[in-house]
Amino acid sequence: MSRFQRVAILGATGSIGESTLDVIARHPDRLGVYALSAHSRMDRLAEQAAASNAAVVVVPDTAARQRFLAAWPTGRAMPEIRVGAQALADTAADPACDTVMAAIVGAAGLPGALAAAQAGKRVLLANKEALVAAGALFMQAVRDNGAELLPIDSEHNAIFQCMPRGDRAGAPTEPARGVRRLLLTASGGPFRRHDPQDLHDVTPDQACKHPNWSMGRKISVDSATMLNKGLEVIEAHWLFAMPAERIEVLIHPQSVVHSLVEYDDGSVLAQLGQPDMRTPIAYGLGFPDRLASGVSPLDLAKAGCLEFDKPDLNRFPCLALAFDALRSGQGACIALNAANEVAVAAFLAGRLRYTWIPRVIAAALEWQQQRSSVTLDSLADVLALDAETRAYTGNLGLA
Ligand code: NDP
Ligand code: MG
Repeated sequence: MSRFQRVAILGATGSIGESTLDVIARHPDRLGVYALSAHSRMDRLAEQAAASNAAVVVVPDTAARQRFLAAWPTGRAMPEIRVGAQALADTAADPACDTVMAAIVGAAGLPGALAAAQAGKRVLLANKEALVAAGALFMQAVRDNGAELLPIDSEHNAIFQCMPRGDRAGAPTEPARGVRRLLLTASGGPFRRHDPQDLHDVTPDQACKHPNWSMGRKISVDSATMLNKGLEVIEAHWLFAMPAERIEVLIHPQSVVHSLVEYDDGSVLAQLGQPDMRTPIAYGLGFPDRLASGVSPLDLAKAGCLEFDKPDLNRFPCLALAFDALRSGQGACIALNAANEVAVAAFLAGRLRYTWIPRVIAAALEWQQQRSSVTLDSLADVLALDAETRAYTGNLGLA
């Protein structure tokens, strides 16, 4: 795809959204912004839309629309303003755009990402929660509608780059030939060396202080608990049709090796780079070409020693819970993700202790196991179980 691409960024005001705009602005000859969406930061959305000449902005409600209008610079031609969740999904499917960056955080990003896949777009998928909650549905939509799926999560982008040629775009139904295992790297987050007993009084700011990456607050907490890596194991399962027992997690504190693919002949291929999301974003926007991303070259001599270690599941119970959920099935994955979103939001708001996050998730998984099984064939089914889990989890362990 080397023709000009018009891009819709769902979640433009977030960390991934900002990095995407940065890369697009470097390539005015081949990339342009069609639409931008935001949830609360209307001032920033107005700045972004003015700077990128977006044709469309999508906001959640009429109050947000008012705030956007108030923030819009006088004298500039106003973009079309669309309002509400349906408008967001419609924009993802809009014939006027070619590529959709799915960068909303949480299961809230699922309807837009799915709409883009159903419309056969090039989908740049950052929103891992969409795959965790609805992997089968989403991958089927990619297959049925000829969408092009490019993983943006750095580990999955690394794996994608290390996969055999000819096995790259789309949605595979079985593991790539010759591939034995996927090795996902994880920094271990800010509490890698902490005694689990000492984490009782951890504050949101401490948990969000990631040693290597700068990210939104929810994924930063997920990285500290390593539930993020658990979500990524589930994401890798769907993206690469790989069973849980052939996906391994490795602690790699330097975040230089972004992930690895092990082949039957013993070869292990890795992708390396600076911990800067503009690299996978530029890869997704440019594929199959390589675009300048603004990321400085990796200086391996300066990086020095690269370490790898097995994660300690006692220290990171959330990672074990995610493997359990993947083995257990889609309902468990929905419950895992929804309970985590509720728990992390409560922690960030100062209403739940850090050490309660795995307990809330474990309780939700137990609750889900005890229910009679429900069908999960449609977006509505998935969203219903997601909502029920949130209702169940809402008050667990609150301070
Ligand atoms: P941020 O919190 O920085 O940004 C989230 C974006 O989603 C914002 O634009 C926000 O709008 C919007 N948003 C939040 N809630 C809703 C909602 N209910 N409905 C619609 N829009 C909403 O997150 P990140 O950019 O860090 O992460 C985005 C996704 O990418 C996540 O799924 C994350 O796991 C994944 N990811 C992120 C990485 C990173 O480096 N940041 C790396 C790999 C994956 P507003 O700000 O206006 O409220
Ligand atoms: Mg990642």
